[in-house]
Amino acid sequence: MSDQPTPITIAKGDGIGPEIMDATLRVLDAAGAKLAIEEIDVGFKVYERGLSAGIEPESWNSLRRTKVFLKSPITTPSGSGFKSLNVTIRKSLGLYANVRPTVAYYPYVRTLHPGMNLVIIRENEEDLYAGIEHRQTQEVTQCLKLITRPGSEKIVRYAFEYARANGRKRVTCMIKDNIMKITDGLFYETFARIAEDYPDIESDRLIIDIGTARLADTPAVFDVVVMPNLYGDIASDVVTQLSGSVGLGGSANIGEHVAMFEAIHGSAPDIAGKGIANPSGLLLGAVMMLVHIGQAEVAERVHNAWLKTLEDGIHTGDIYKDDTSRERVDTDGFTNAVIARFGELPRKLNSVSYTGAQQMAMPSAKLNIAQDKTLVGVDIFLDWVEDSRNPDVIGKKLQDLAGDMSLQMITNRGVKVFPDGLEETFCTDHWRCRFVSAAGEGTTVSHQQVIGLLSRIAEAKLDFIKTEHLYFFDGKPGFSLGQGQ
Ligand code: NAD
Repeated sequence: MSDQPTPITIAKGDGIGPEIMDATLRVLDAAGAKLAIEEIDVGFKVYERGLSAGIEPESWNSLRRTKVFLKSPITTPSGSGFKSLNVTIRKSLGLYANVRPTVAYYPYVRTLHPGMNLVIIRENEEDLYAGIEHRQTQEVTQCLKLITRPGSEKIVRYAFEYARANGRKRVTCMIKDNIMKITDGLFYETFARIAEDYPDIESDRLIIDIGTARLADTPAVFDVVVMPNLYGDIASDVVTQLSGSVGLGGSANIGEHVAMFEAIHGSAPDIAGKGIANPSGLLLGAVMMLVHIGQAEVAERVHNAWLKTLEDGIHTGDIYKDDTSRERVDTDGFTNAVIARFGELPRKLNSVSYTGAQQMAMPSAKLNIAQDKTLVGVDIFLDWVEDSRNPDVIGKKLQDLAGDMSLQMITNRGVKVFPDGLEETFCTDHWRCRFVSAAGEGTTVSHQQVIGLLSRIAEAKLDFIKTEHLYFFDGKPGFSLGQGQ
């Protein structure tokens, strides 16, 4: 370890944030961490100053300079005028990997799953969290789910590199590619391809619904689990709760240039200012930070002393139980107990060792793969409502307007309703109308043909609300079929 302090940025956040940050910094300082700390404001008081992003513009300079951010939880104001600071930070700084280790501390912390010791690696920037939402008609709203090849490559490779560097044996991919064959399909295909580069690590897959059920039922059988953003958000909270308390989880948000470390839990306004919060989540986040900045020895000292404190039954209120705890302490009491145990190892819980750990290779993605891309049609979405809502009525109108294109089908909420739909299918005011070349499916179509078709539709006073081009990539369709097609 170099004698030079490592610059880091901290933010004390809201609610219990300042209390747990002070406790954490006290532990790090006493353990001999060499840190040059810059503090920035984030969260409620910044939102109150009218900055809807929750962060001052000049604070970005500190984050870009130090590249390491230890952040307390913040209170996200409800209401549409505010942006989620966490999402903004993750996406602006490219923190693509959210790493959440979850461990059971049985029998010292009550849990239904004594053997649990897993890490969820959640993709952090993409999926439905791109935040691209629109209201398109009176009845219909949409949110765009974006899964990219480079994004999937980076997170999947990160999961395998993490497994290798941390002595983990297996990586499980959870997706819903039986329904979202293109988006989740890309994530899984990427996983299957990259898994071949890591023959020393086992790999398997589960559909997210049964996967979450198994995580909740038998979490001890999992090792490293990698998932797209939304599934990872939900599943990681399920798993953290199973460990006994949300107050015990730390997490890292890792990017190619910057990393942010935090507790999993929120600002806990119900106990703020009382001095009783459990600082463990942020402290474990800080341990991950110390490993990241190369202060592994300090990380090990802090983590083992913390384990010994739990084992000695010195517990904050959130995990205190008469049968498993010895002393109920407040935040300060817990902090003092950890500091008093530096140099000790837990006796029954597994101790941790970071000093011999392998340095992790940071993955980067291969950009610009060149596949042959051909335009073969267009989906035109219409806002159309007539009393009958009869798909045959709009279908016949569009057939008359098709010209050198051919109307292949109309779907409503993804279900084919024209031609030959079922009377029973419920129809909203949002119609997806698929046109291909009149010369036959798979024949190339020009942008001019699409523009001509849109002009005819506009002249017929039909309201087209969006278009999606249909492409073949290396001769294979890059679009899904209609349900029932
Ligand atoms: P929360 O995690 O703050 O609290 C849930 C429950 O757990 C509460 O009963 C709380 O007292 C308890 N708890 C949480 N952390 C604890 C700790 N360290 N010690 C003891 N008990 C603890 O979740 P919430 O109430 O849904 O959210 C409160 C606020 O936090 C919201 O504004 C939310 O948006 C925000 N939030 C922020 C982050 C973040 O900044 N990373 C994460 C989650 C929620």
